[in-house]
Amino acid sequence: MVDGLSKLEQTSKRLELTTLLSSLFKSVGADELPYVVYLIQGKIYPDYKGVELGIAEKLVIRALKMVTGLDEMTIEKEIGKKGDLGIVAESLISKKKQAALLYQPLTIGRVYVTLDRMAKLSGAGSQSQKLSLFINLLNDCEPIEAKYLIRMAIGSLRLGVADYTVLDALAEAFLGSRDMRGSLETAYNVSGDLGLVAGNLVNGGLESVKKIGVELNRPIRPMLAERAKDIPEALKHMQNDFICEYKYDGERVQIHKEGELISIFSRRLENITVNYPDLVAISKKKIKPDVAIVEGEAVAIDKNSGQFYPFQELMHRRRKYEIDKAMAKYPVCLFLFDIMYLKGKSTLNLPLKERRELLRGSIEVGKMIKLTESLRSSELPRIERMMEDAIENGCEGIMIKDLKSVYRAGAREFSWIKIKREYKNELNDTMDLVVVGAFHGMGRRAGNYGTLLVAAYDEDADTFKTVTKIGTGFKDEDLDMFPKLLSKYVIDHRSARVDSNLKPDVWFEPSVVIEVQAQEITLSPIHTAGLDVVKKGSGLALRFPKFTGKVRDDKSAVDATTVKELVEMYYSQRKIRTG
Ligand code: ATP
Repeated sequence: MVDGLSKLEQTSKRLELTTLLSSLFKSVGADELPYVVYLIQGKIYPDYKGVELGIAEKLVIRALKMVTGLDEMTIEKEIGKKGDLGIVAESLISKKKQAALLYQPLTIGRVYVTLDRMAKLSGAGSQSQKLSLFINLLNDCEPIEAKYLIRMAIGSLRLGVADYTVLDALAEAFLGSRDMRGSLETAYNVSGDLGLVAGNLVNGGLESVKKIGVELNRPIRPMLAERAKDIPEALKHMQNDFICEYKYDGERVQIHKEGELISIFSRRLENITVNYPDLVAISKKKIKPDVAIVEGEAVAIDKNSGQFYPFQELMHRRRKYEIDKAMAKYPVCLFLFDIMYLKGKSTLNLPLKERRELLRGSIEVGKMIKLTESLRSSELPRIERMMEDAIENGCEGIMIKDLKSVYRAGAREFSWIKIKREYKNELNDTMDLVVVGAFHGMGRRAGNYGTLLVAAYDEDADTFKTVTKIGTGFKDEDLDMFPKLLSKYVIDHRSARVDSNLKPDVWFEPSVVIEVQAQEITLSPIHTAGLDVVKKGSGLALRFPKFTGKVRDDKSAVDATTVKELVEMYYSQRKIRTG
């Protein structure tokens, strides 16, 4: 496995990354494959389980001290010189140690099981138990194994292997070609669990993968909306009856109810149940069936006026402590818009019209739990009026949804279309872009990042393509915050999944998503987003980009604005100007 890891680390080409990963997958045993799929992304479980490896660097240093017999000062000095704990361990662990009497070679299974045990230990005495488990592993490590083991443990592996890369590689390894990714994607979309998909694939083939269905307490990847700049444009896409709904500016929540057990998942499938004790209580009471999965938007409201607060206020819920205070200050109202599972059966393949009826029959509407405000009409003036109402009421705009459409987990299609207020104004679009690099600041910004290099997501290539450098819109606290936020993702080379002609001072593993506003999308000789699409030799860039102040914690890198969307936005602004 270490051989595979070091090759993965060295490549800077996305396609090669997939091929190398595919060879690695083929080289391990069937039992080990799911473990490798998790470990390669620095995890031991899918995200929704909320089990974090999170082994502290301090513990690793203590373990290294015991294994090498060196004192802490010497080790710290080495870290100061080399910067990376993995590399330090590789150079310090001597072969001599492994010649010891009880040397047992490492296996993937042993590493996984030990890390799993360590992650689950808590409470009194857990630190010393963790330490001795880790020492056992390190004692049996080859130097290069120590390097990767430590990186896995402290979460600094950063191989740039995203979910789609894993799916491509699995398809290439076991179905003959990455073109077969689609057949694995459905299972991944309903389960959010790559290890499960890999395990079923290697043990029971495609048939077994197809059996992966909706399950309670396992989040489904959310269905997403395409965008339109105005209502007439949206209506052009609607071939069937449709419904218009308010587009609330809150946090998307997927609620699983199994009797008294309520689990709440975010848009990116994290378990956020602890952040919403109020939603748990209300779901227990007001979702009528014993077993169901429903979806909606949680919106922060002003206790006194009942008016909506914008999305940012909900981020106060994203803390570990003092949830009670946040809950009292920012109570939420839940607006439900879909149902995916009812009484033991998936409802994903039912048309929206039927799903809505099932949803309506499944909840008892109250002050804090409602169905989304909706309108069934195809008359343009009525829909326009609804849009104005929605905005006046603190919503972002409206959603228009095809009533015949099924729930396509993980897909962004025109059966759901969002129209936001900003899209009406060509100069006011916002985009969610991924930070892939940074340039050091000067003057007032010395010591911090001066500008960030941001990118859009290219779904077809599974890469990130740069679209602008951004240096405005940062408040002083943002300038202090970014180095801290980004420090976890620093890498010493360009990620294989980033396409860039620019060379920033610092590279990042694509992870952090920020909201950016721009005046215009223009052609660019430098940036790689949309290269050759609009004009040969040119990419797309943003004119007057500005950070809006929003870090999109609720989005992962692949949820960022796509290159395809940028191209659409480019054309729609041109239509306005020349038309
Ligand atoms: P955005 O950046 O505009 O919030 P997004 O990329 O998070 O969009 P989209 O699918 O593009 O996700 O837009 C739909 C989002 O809008 C949902 O993820 C959900 O959080 C929110 N939303 C608000 N009201 C509704 C509604 N009535 N139906 C579906 N989604 C809604």
